Amino acid sequence: MNDTKILLSEDEMPRQWYNIQADLPKPLPPVIHPGTGQPIGPDDLAPLFPMGLIMQEVSQERYIDIPEEILEVYKLWRPSPLIRAYRWEKALDTPAKIYYKWEGVSPPGSHKPNTAVAQAYYNKKEGVKRITTETGAGQWGSALSFACNLFDIECKVYMVRISYDQKPYRRIMMETWGAKCVPSPSTETQAGRMILKQDPDSPGSLGIAISEAVEIAAKNADTKYALGSVLNHVLLHQTIVGLEAQAQFKKAGDYPDVVIGCVGGGSNYAGFALPFVRDKIVDKRKTRFIAVEPTACPTMTKGLYRYDFGDTACTTPLIKMYTLGHNFIPAPIHAGGLRYHGMAPILCHLYELGLMKAVAYHQKAVFESAISFARAEGFIPAPETAHAIKATMDEAIRCRESGEKKVIAFNNSGHGHFDLAAYQKYLNNELEDYEYPEEKIKEALAHLPKIDA
Ligand SMILES: *Cc1c(COP(=O)(O)O)cnc(C)c1O
Repeated sequence: MNDTKILLSEDEMPRQWYNIQADLPKPLPPVIHPGTGQPIGPDDLAPLFPMGLIMQEVSQERYIDIPEEILEVYKLWRPSPLIRAYRWEKALDTPAKIYYKWEGVSPPGSHKPNTAVAQAYYNKKEGVKRITTETGAGQWGSALSFACNLFDIECKVYMVRISYDQKPYRRIMMETWGAKCVPSPSTETQAGRMILKQDPDSPGSLGIAISEAVEIAAKNADTKYALGSVLNHVLLHQTIVGLEAQAQFKKAGDYPDVVIGCVGGGSNYAGFALPFVRDKIVDKRKTRFIAVEPTACPTMTKGLYRYDFGDTACTTPLIKMYTLGHNFIPAPIHAGGLRYHGMAPILCHLYELGLMKAVAYHQKAVFESAISFARAEGFIPAPETAHAIKATMDEAIRCRESGEKKVIAFNNSGHGHFDLAAYQKYLNNELEDYEYPEEKIKEALAHLPKIDA
């Protein structure tokens, strides 16, 4: 078969998500309650999440049925295409075959609605009237707004102040889908008021916005909180991406030798990679897995595998993960979605077990590869996705040098139409590279909670 787009019909769409917890060679370390030092149970999470999602968080079942109502919404843009990058292969003069799974076709323009829709559904099913969340540049906020609107749930998004002021378009998307978006810190919460008292002009941070969203959910019985990455149930919902890709590779008569993706909290890469990781664990496939991050936020390549808080305000349970420390202050790189201090515990566990590798790149090289891709394939990728593109390009160039005809696959997690200001900076040669300083890692270690299991 020589098609550019390898398509599935709606009938061929997977009807279950894949839960890698069933196939892990060693179980995940437990999540710990910071007060008691003991593993948390489902009830500890009940004020924030509906039980349907909490049960998925801890489930050991291998395949979990996707409810019909969710499949109906997925059909708006799924199955997404798997595309063979013929033109880019030619431009790179590589004997390698390059495939990408294209998640930019969803209404909000990224992979994020794969979980937003599922989360809205399970909240609706348990009678939740309102969902709160935080958003940085707005990708997650817009995905959740889209999903809540379809299930008739109120959506309240706390958007980091500086992005709220500088990046209005994603906020307008949220409002178009009927959500309420407020700049954080706000006067609506204790957490927000406290910050504003100290600094009335605070630009905000993801940590502060999380604290605000969590506070509102914890205080109101009809309100829950939603997170767009990191957690096991989020990764579970994203496996629709990898399961579709597997069916598409089968149609194409190929199988990837290398599976690549960018990692912020780890959800798009996990969703794409985990079904292939299953093949490596269970069927002893030799596939290589490469998670790609920015040098400015090198969680896996330079962080420590320790218990840490998920947020800056130390309100979440303790999670064993690679971390740069919950006090981590990210440099202002343009891949806003990759600036989280921690990483999905499932990916960290696989990395620790040696099933996965990680690399870090500087943003100028990342944008250079994004331009190379856009000029060959047309689509302009999100700056986050461009990290995966840089790693793919390096692999393809290595194949050119060695003559190897590898099959390289990457997850194209979203389009960059709201990031054109960053592209302009790159084209005007105004971008700067940031290296995360080694001393900062030692400093972070000093502030990690003193629990180790
Ligand atoms: C949010 C986002 C990411 C990073 O989040 P993950 O949970 O690591 O996937 C990557 N790409 C795009 C397009 C995003 O919107």
